[in-house]
Amino acid sequence: MVRVKSRCSKCGEVTLSMEDIILVEHGDGEGTFYTFRCDVCDEFQAYPADSRFIDFMGMNGMESIILKAPIEYKEGREKDPLSWDDLLDLHLQLQEEG
Ligand SMILES: [Zn+2]
Repeated sequence: MVRVKSRCSKCGEVTLSMEDIILVEHGDGEGTFYTFRCDVCDEFQAYPADSRFIDFMGMNGMESIILKAPIEYKEGREKDPLSWDDLLDLHLQLQEEG
């Protein structure tokens, strides 16, 4: 299994499996982020993903989820950048869907 090192804001360096990570590309061109849930503290984390990371994920069969505007949770908020909370909401939503 491919392991990926990242950082948790609470725990410091953590090791994840590819399956733990969700790659999210923002449809408005505001960049690509990755989110994961820390194994240690169960907190959701979200960070900008650079192109090397995106390529790496792609090589391992992980495709980014593209958020297209308008998206439901951006309604009523003009040109707000994708926030931490938005990513965490998405993460929860995806997990609930299975
Ligand atoms: Zn943690």
